[in-house]
Amino acid sequence: MSSFGAERNAPDADNSLTRTLPALDLLSHSDFTRLHPTGSHPERPERIQALLDALPCEVTSRRASVEELTACHDPGYVETVAAFSSSGRTGYLDPDTVCTPTSYELARLAAGTAIEAVERSGFALGRPPGHHALPDRAMGFCLFNNVAVAARFAQRELGLSRVAIFDWDVHHGNGTQDMFWNDASVLFVSLHRWPFYPGSGGPGEGNATTVNVPLSAGAGDAAYVAAMEATVEPAIRSFEPDLLIVSAGFDAAAGDPLGGMLVTAEGFRELASRAGRLCGRVACVLEGGYNVETLPDLVRATVDGLAPEAPAPR
Ligand code: ZN
Repeated sequence: MSSFGAERNAPDADNSLTRTLPALDLLSHSDFTRLHPTGSHPERPERIQALLDALPCEVTSRRASVEELTACHDPGYVETVAAFSSSGRTGYLDPDTVCTPTSYELARLAAGTAIEAVERSGFALGRPPGHHALPDRAMGFCLFNNVAVAARFAQRELGLSRVAIFDWDVHHGNGTQDMFWNDASVLFVSLHRWPFYPGSGGPGEGNATTVNVPLSAGAGDAAYVAAMEATVEPAIRSFEPDLLIVSAGFDAAAGDPLGGMLVTAEGFRELASRAGRLCGRVACVLEGGYNVETLPDLVRATVDGLAPEAPAPR
């Protein structure tokens, strides 16, 4: 199905009732293809270049302010990242997480794009990803926790007091879990491979507003949809969120070099469609997904899944 391109760029009032329109604005920026260069690292600028080449993205230049970052992160940690970048050095903040002279700037743009996605019900297509970032340190390719920053912004500035975060990245979103472990106003629900990096999110790990669904290596569409039905949907429905943010990683996709799972584009479309029926307000934020050949189709399938169904002709 093609609900992109011509339709969204050529609004036509006469046909507006019978077309399927994208539910989400795709938000990105060419800086994501240029800054925070990571060389041969899987989390590299080419990921976003592939998306910009294939999808009709809108440019956003929204950078998270220090105040917005420190709603989730320790001020000393934000200063550490800023100082590392301004030193002009390139090095590692954790064994997997590179920091370059432009990383602080780009991480602020990534978090700001997530904020704008929440403001506009959009899909933030930025990098670096965020869901492993802890309050006081970088981890697993992540500098600032984009989804957590956006959730706090939604609560403070948009009056959306109950926020659900649904994380379908193949890795457990340990940083997001940590941010909101003691906060009953934010529900965190994660589907992830386990045991696997970062090691957390195993059976029995959770609380009233932290729900983890560990899945075996090689899980595909059927296992993901079954987990969605059995656990994710009941948890989010009963929480009654004002906003649902999808931590949308695509490294559980078949063919991803890191994930070892078998979810197809159709599987992501189904997960997105089900997620879209759980809350009246939905935003998505890109996390992982390291096969640059398939990433655009996976994002497209997700947006298609979230698009409202065309009303019947009348
Ligand atoms: Zn991941």
